[in-house]
Amino acid sequence: MTDDTLFNGVLLAVFASALATVLLLSWVDAPYGRHQSSGWGPTIPVRLGWVLMESPASLVFFYFYFTGQQAFQLVPLLLMVMWQLHYMHRSFIYPFQIRVKPGARTTMLVIALGSFYCGINGYLNGTYLSHYANHLTVDWLTDPRFILGVMLFGFGYYLNKRSDRMLRELREQNPGAYQIPRGFGFNWVSMPNYLGEIITWSGFALASWSLAGLSFVLFTMANLVPRALANHRWYRETFSDYPRDRKAIIPYIL
Ligand code: NDP
Repeated sequence: MTDDTLFNGVLLAVFASALATVLLLSWVDAPYGRHQSSGWGPTIPVRLGWVLMESPASLVFFYFYFTGQQAFQLVPLLLMVMWQLHYMHRSFIYPFQIRVKPGARTTMLVIALGSFYCGINGYLNGTYLSHYANHLTVDWLTDPRFILGVMLFGFGYYLNKRSDRMLRELREQNPGAYQIPRGFGFNWVSMPNYLGEIITWSGFALASWSLAGLSFVLFTMANLVPRALANHRWYRETFSDYPRDRKAIIPYIL
């Protein structure tokens, strides 16, 4: 099998598994966080779970990126930095920032599947940027797709990180409990951190103009839209005073 055949085969498999994921998560809530439940096999500490799950997206990306002939060209380098800004944080900083409920653990099956996907995602995007993306020359810096993509990435990144920080602050006020988050993106939706994540990777896909980037946005949506709907339902069932006009993930729409 050639490298090209492998790359295209994996890409196709990710598009197919995004479809399978959205179908599966429409009737099963992934067992972690507020939907953690027994009966899903062994569990591990929450922080360790995050590191193991997310770090392949950073490390595997690095490996494949630096084996490509375009690794030291300006535009691929910028996109590599954007990717790693998110993933170095998510893998090695975020797990030690979250306020974990005392004794909370997470399901190993979720971590194993997430880790496998993150490795595949790192392979696809790292490989694409430095092996295949011939259009990412310095001229691309002034292309509207790159400019708009970087702006979306920045906005999504801010929305995601600030919303996650607000949740941490809530947990600090009341350790071990869930409360109704209020303010900023929570005025409109229950899960502004998820909305920020989807905007971040839509921006990356646009800025890199790649099917690898698109596969990641679709996979992220396949994971986060059903989860946002489940969390929104959970908020409404748990808090009788939950704001009635707040949507799950898309302001005014969903
Ligand atoms: P959640 O919003 O469910 O939880 C984030 C943290 O905040 C957890 O520590 C959680 O605690 C705590 N928390 C959540 N709601 C409340 C509340 N109402 N009151 C107090 N504390 C609260 O997000 P996820 O854990 O699902 O995801 C974390 C990050 O990872 C997000 O930024 C998300 O976008 C990203 N992500 C990306 C995916 C992708 O496919 N790209 C997939 C999954 C996540 P607890 O754990 O106890 O519930």
